[in-house]
Order: sequence, then C-alpha cells, then structure tokens
Amino acid sequence: MDIMVLVKIVPDIERVRFDMEKGTVDRSSAESEINPFDLNALEAARRIKENLGGSITTISMGPQSMENVYKDVFARGADRAILLSDRKFAGADTLATSHTIATAIKKLKHIGLVLCGEKTTDGDTGQVGNEVAELLGIPSLYYVSELEIKADGMYAVVDMDREKLVYRVGSPALLSVTKDVNVPRLPTLKEKLEARKKSVEIWSADVLGDSEERFGARGSPTRVSRTVVPKEEGRKGRIYRNADEGIDALLDAFKEMAWAF
Ligand SMILES: Cc1cc2nc3c(=O)[nH]c(=O)nc-3n(C[C@H](O)[C@H](O)[C@H](O)COP(=O)(O)OP(=O)(O)OC[C@H]3O[C@@H](n4cnc5c(N)ncnc54)[C@H](O)[C@@H]3O)c2cc1C
Repeated sequence: MDIMVLVKIVPDIERVRFDMEKGTVDRSSAESEINPFDLNALEAARRIKENLGGSITTISMGPQSMENVYKDVFARGADRAILLSDRKFAGADTLATSHTIATAIKKLKHIGLVLCGEKTTDGDTGQVGNEVAELLGIPSLYYVSELEIKADGMYAVVDMDREKLVYRVGSPALLSVTKDVNVPRLPTLKEKLEARKKSVEIWSADVLGDSEERFGARGSPTRVSRTVVPKEEGRKGRIYRNADEGIDALLDAFKEMAWAF
C-alpha cells in the first residue's frame, strides 16, 4: 500500500505568543514541531505498512528554514519526505493549501491511502483533509478514532461524538485521524541519527507546473475580516442520512452565523 501522510510544521502551541492587535501568531516566539495530530497519522501509516507492506511518503507545505524538524518524519517511519516550498505558495488559505498539496499528490501518480490529522494546533480549521480529498476526487473519512486491519480489509471507526460509525476502507481514500487512533511511538536515538542523514525533497511551484493563479495569496479567496478568541466548545456532530438534508442544514447554519462574515 502506498501511503501518503500530510504533515504540517507548527509552532509549539504551549509556548507561542499571539499578537492580539494584529491577530497573528508570532512564529519566532516558539520552537517548531510536527503538528501533534499528524504524529498520529504517521503512526497509523507505520502500522498499516507493518501489516500490509508498502511505503510512506510525507507531504508538507511550508518554509524551508526548519529542515531538521521536517527530517523528524524519517525517524518516525517515513521512506520519503516532500516539502512544497516556494514564495509563490505564501499567503495561502486552506483552499490554496489544499490545491497545492493535491497537485503534488497527483504528480506522484499512484494514490493508495492519504492520511492526515483532524486539525492543526495553529490554523485549527480542520478543512485541509476534506478539501484535498475533494480535489483528488477520492472518498474521505474524518474523525477516524480507530483503525483495524482484518483478513478481509481495513476498517475505520468514525467518532461522531454521539455515534460511532464503522466503515470498510477501500483504496484510494483519505482518512483524517484523531488523537484516539493510536499512541505515537517515540523515535529511538538510532532512528533519530539515521534520519539526520536523509534528505527532504524540495518541490517548487515549477515542479508542480500548475497555474500560478491557484497558489498562495492569488489562489486564496479567504479574507480575514477580524480575529476573535472563540469560547471553548465541544464538537456538535450531527449525522444526515442524505446529502440534500445535510446541505440544507449547513446553509441554515451559515445563515445563522452570517454576522461572522
Ligand atoms: C487569508 C489567509 C492567509 C493566510 N496566509 C498564510 C501565510 O502567509 N503563511 C502561513 O503559514 N499560513 C497562512 N494562512 C494559514 C494557512 O491557510 C493554513 O496554515 C493552512 O491552510 C492549513 O490550515 P489549517 O492549519 O487550519 O489546517 P487543518 O485543516 O486544521 O489541518 C488538517 C490536516 O491537514 C494537513 N495539513 C494542513 N496544512 C498542511 C500543510 N501546510 N502541509 C501539509 N499538511 C497540512 C495536516 O495533516 C493537518 O493535520 C493563511 C490563512 C488565511 C485564511
């Protein structure tokens, strides 16, 4: 099974400072690390590879300055690591980010399984996984809290808070995992030292070869109008048994929140 794992590098959220006036994150105020949810995705990939064989390729979009952090993926089981990095990617919202990642995945030709975290600890939108799946035209499951490989295939449990749904996973597919899916193992010293010897492949916009209109700020329809610190609330998962019902409910919810736009 060829497994791709989406890995974002984020600032250590326990230490990072926020500029409340500008509504931005001061990235220089803290060390960077692999997004914690993506460690679960990497561990899930490793377990699938151990059971079914294959290879693990990580795909990240971000600046080149944190090469050692990117190299950590090798110590956690990645065979190949690709970093999408170019000034043309700067200022990307989730759509442009997802477009860039999906274009890179298409370049790799064969898509087996794509794994990602349910969200990041900095942007925290939880949008990128589903957007990538949509752009690739493959099915996706979000909030995967358990993954089990049985003789007749792979099964994923989707945690909807009030209900748990069990799916049999085919290929290609994208799975977005929660922290409950596993406990990521810590790399050994040997794995860390081996990782230092490996290289991350850098792919620029030219390598992707797509229209520049769809990358970075130019490909980003989102405009940030203001920044607020939200109240802590749990997820309010709802299950709709048919698409029309779900779309109507979503449109109603957007209308209710119209003040926010
Ligand atoms: C208008 C606008 C402008 C922005 N400009 C910038 C900017 O200039 N610089 C900047 O750094 N950010 C910028 N951002 C933030 C940027 O859009 C997000 O960092 C990015 O789209 C990922 O969204 P997220 O962190 O919410 O990911 P989520 O959707 O919460 O992440 C879900 C999963 O998707 C995968 N994933 C997400 N992002 C990446 C990635 N980059 N690489 C690999 N895998 C990933 C991970 O597996 C992650 O667990 C901007 C956002 C907006 C709205």
